[in-house]
Amino acid sequence: MSPPMLIPCPHCGGLNRIPAQRLGDNPVCGRCKHTLLPAAPFELNQASFASQLQGDLPLLVDVWADWCGPCKAFAPTFAQAAHQLQGRVRLGKLDSEANRQLAGQLGVRSIPSLILFRGGAEVARQSGALPLPQLLAWLAGQGI
Ligand SMILES: [Zn+2]
Repeated sequence: MSPPMLIPCPHCGGLNRIPAQRLGDNPVCGRCKHTLLPAAPFELNQASFASQLQGDLPLLVDVWADWCGPCKAFAPTFAQAAHQLQGRVRLGKLDSEANRQLAGQLGVRSIPSLILFRGGAEVARQSGALPLPQLLAWLAGQGI
């Protein structure tokens, strides 16, 4: 038996313990009953970011803004990645206009930016959008 994985709920932030072999069974949050590992990206903000950084699955953040054409063009690709990688990596979107302070703390200079966190620390960053095959290859290079 592998030890349980710690997974923060994207809805309420509650930290859940899920056996690794159950990750593919669409686990729900013990507190709010929302799905823990949605097949679509979830919204991040200044308040939720610290809790969403926790846990045992990596977190991929898409930093975007409403005025950014390339960001909007990339959104469907990011959503497809969330679908394909469900249960292996958590995908969150950070609106850099609504969360300027956090985007600044993360050192975001251009958008879209993709930042991969593991164990609460940044492990990789990609500036600019990627087509889905390249995005998946980039993540595979990070062990995802
Ligand atoms: Zn919850």
